[in-house]
Amino acid sequence: MNIYALGEGSFSVDSTKKFVPFNPLTDSPTDRKGSIFIHVQPFLLKTEHDLILMDAGLGFKNPNGELMLHDNIRNAGFEPEDVTLILMSHLHYDHTGGLVVERNGRMEPSFPDAEHIIQRGEWEFAFSGKSSSYRQPIFEVLQQSVNVTLVEGSGNFRNGITYELTGGHCPFHQVFKIESAGEIYFFGGDVLPEPEQLIRKFAAKYDFDGKKSMELRERFGKQAAEENWICCFYHAKNLAIGKVTDNNGFSVKTLDS
Ligand SMILES: [Zn+2]
Repeated sequence: MNIYALGEGSFSVDSTKKFVPFNPLTDSPTDRKGSIFIHVQPFLLKTEHDLILMDAGLGFKNPNGELMLHDNIRNAGFEPEDVTLILMSHLHYDHTGGLVVERNGRMEPSFPDAEHIIQRGEWEFAFSGKSSSYRQPIFEVLQQSVNVTLVEGSGNFRNGITYELTGGHCPFHQVFKIESAGEIYFFGGDVLPEPEQLIRKFAAKYDFDGKKSMELRERFGKQAAEENWICCFYHAKNLAIGKVTDNNGFSVKTLDS
């Protein structure tokens, strides 16, 4: 197994856009009226050439003060310093919080040696201050202290890694396909955030362009089924990594079923 879901947990979000940890075993959803509930998991993929992180979560810490993302990488059998490449679908806070960590009152990059792959338009939009879904201090830390590679449009990055500018969820959203060890891994970010969105057809209000996202999901679902992709669902409740079948409607199954 070369792909790992690094579950950060479940969260409720209300109109203030603050993410509050939610434990389904001990917390009651009725206490959080007006909230939506989301699940967050970045992914780690080991290829022949790289240890790849796909999006970075919210940046919550464990009770021991360690970044949960770092602990999850260790639990998968690697060290955070082993990460060579970070592929970012987009820069909303729930995907970028874990790129930085506060230590002794200072914000530092969580992966100072990794190359961060970001779509240029998204990077510029994140700095523009036009949307409250972005937290600029994160990007200022990155700009000063890590290797950021800005890609434009769609193309090949290296070693079987391709990126595609999709828009949909936000104007400069991108998705990634990684070919490794005879498999094709697909990271659809928030254009394909959970299996249910393939199975049920709808345009979501939270998307910048809901109709486009819906069309993209249809296209990616078909390709995923045809080419037997391993799909990574960032906001999945249960099934974070799965394969798609298309028999008059999509279904998603775990890899071992
Ligand atoms: Zn998201």
